[in-house]
Amino acid sequence: MITTDICIVGAGPVGLFAVFEAGLLKMRCHLIDVLPQVGGQLSEIYPQKPIYDIPGYPEINAQELVTRLMEQIKPFHPGFTLGERVETVDRQDDGSLIVKTNGQTAVSCQVLVIAGGLGCFEPRKPDIDRLIEFEGKGVAYMVKDPETFRNRQVVLAGGGDSALDWAIYLANIAARVTLIHRGNTFRGTPDTAEKVFELAKAGDIDLILQSNVTGLDGRENLEVVSVQGQQQALTLLPADHFIPLFGLSPKLGPIANWGLNMDKSAIEVNTTDFSTNVARIYAIGDINTYPGKLKLILCGFHEAALMAQGAFKYVYPDQKLSFKYTTVYGVPEF
Ligand SMILES: Cc1cc2nc3c(=O)[nH]c(=O)nc-3n(C[C@H](O)[C@H](O)[C@H](O)COP(=O)(O)OP(=O)(O)OC[C@H]3O[C@@H](n4cnc5c(N)ncnc54)[C@H](O)[C@@H]3O)c2cc1C
Repeated sequence: MITTDICIVGAGPVGLFAVFEAGLLKMRCHLIDVLPQVGGQLSEIYPQKPIYDIPGYPEINAQELVTRLMEQIKPFHPGFTLGERVETVDRQDDGSLIVKTNGQTAVSCQVLVIAGGLGCFEPRKPDIDRLIEFEGKGVAYMVKDPETFRNRQVVLAGGGDSALDWAIYLANIAARVTLIHRGNTFRGTPDTAEKVFELAKAGDIDLILQSNVTGLDGRENLEVVSVQGQQQALTLLPADHFIPLFGLSPKLGPIANWGLNMDKSAIEVNTTDFSTNVARIYAIGDINTYPGKLKLILCGFHEAALMAQGAFKYVYPDQKLSFKYTTVYGVPEF
């Protein structure tokens, strides 16, 4: 059995930064993530995408941010269990909790922090003939390393932020980027959509609207994507890669059974300290909801700071917490 002060479900950016905020208050953390690596959406969905809204970094690549966060929490020596999914939480007589995974790991903790983001990642797969057959042979649901697409013919499908972001980013890398969308307007951020229209107008990408991908063809690997327009005949596009970006279906899994107040698939929290309706369980980052919630990394960082202040009373019930800047103590390693 692993014993710690705070067990954190999810090693995405918010779970990682929670270690830092807890560490400043001398609380030890153990993180559990079902993915084999830390970083959450940043490492799994968009490792090489630049991020522009992290304070102090005019531009930072997503994977670089994860590396920096790992460096920042190093002084607090967090424990990690990766590649295992948290399944159950049981309360002990003294109020503390025991968290168990599907991999037989058990963690005894005073506080549980759920930083589970979108839940366990599962891409929504469109219903297209031979899609599964070409997985790993041209079909992918995420862009892990954009270099894979250098000088290749890439067909993207979707109308949300992921499809728009990657169409823009890959325009400079791929030999040709074609974005296919069933509508003629996009669900993604208006500025991003505008940029995509500009690139299409300049001839830097191909945009095929009001159309759907209906078939895939090739011998060993993908070679052709069939596109059916609502108004036009079938078009056959040469393609080395097809990336359908129809979002990730939120699979909260066992978290939904822990007696937490939920709104759709998000956990309701008290914004004073990001506590849930269940004592000693907090929820921070993309997984929570409250009036005005923004699913942004920097909002999750703020939530982590307030969570740590709230969790302190369970870890050090006899101590009074007084707020101090890091200027006073620096970052005291333990
Ligand atoms: C394409 C794209 C671009 C984006 N660009 C920006 C941007 O420019 N700026 C910005 O601020 N935000 C951006 N975001 C949003 C940002 O990525 C999220 O707000 C952020 O990742 C949330 O962090 P998190 O730690 O809460 O959750 P996540 O990053 O989702 O991490 C949660 C982790 O919890 C794990 N997990 C879930 N359930 C369990 C379980 N039961 N057991 C074990 N592990 C579990 C998951 O595997 C995951 O690793 C973007 C998102 C996308 C998709």
